[in-house]
Amino acid sequence: MTQEEMWKAVSENDASYDGIFFYAVRSTGIYCRPSCKSKIPRRENICFFDTAEQARAAGFRPCKRCRSDLLDYQPIKEIAERAKRLLEDSFRKRCGLNQELRHLGVSQRRMVEIFKDEYGVTLSEYVGNLRLAEAKRLLSDTNDEIIDIAYSIGFGGLSSFYRFFKNSTGLSPAAYRKEHRE
Ligand SMILES: [Zn+2]
Repeated sequence: MTQEEMWKAVSENDASYDGIFFYAVRSTGIYCRPSCKSKIPRRENICFFDTAEQARAAGFRPCKRCRSDLLDYQPIKEIAERAKRLLEDSFRKRCGLNQELRHLGVSQRRMVEIFKDEYGVTLSEYVGNLRLAEAKRLLSDTNDEIIDIAYSIGFGGLSSFYRFFKNSTGLSPAAYRKEHRE
């Protein structure tokens, strides 16, 4: 995150950055969450910290108004969880996922980091896992045409689905279906 982005979040009291960084005001010795409703300090008076702990270590006191001491990593966890739910609800869509993720209020690069830290996989690996599980289920439990299955889990066509499936399982969708049928 750049200083520019952080300053923008502070000047807009953007709560979606709470927990992602803190700012401290040199003239008052106080540190705040980005969403703090106190008067916006002059830019040249503030400095940024990744964690409340770092701000404390640098000698700043928590703000009584935004209670910056009561906030640690929870919001990041919450953002990761919201992203996960969003992927689970909408992995079947072919597009628009990134756009919806953007509504969670962090930059795409930051979202990738947060998600990976929390779940150990990238966003696209996670979506891939969801698609694979659903593909396997549909192949073994339904009589749906393979092309329909491909579309229903967000692929644009048969060949991209085939490649994806074969790479993940070593089998073609048809071979998988045959093996997992009575
Ligand atoms: Zn504050």
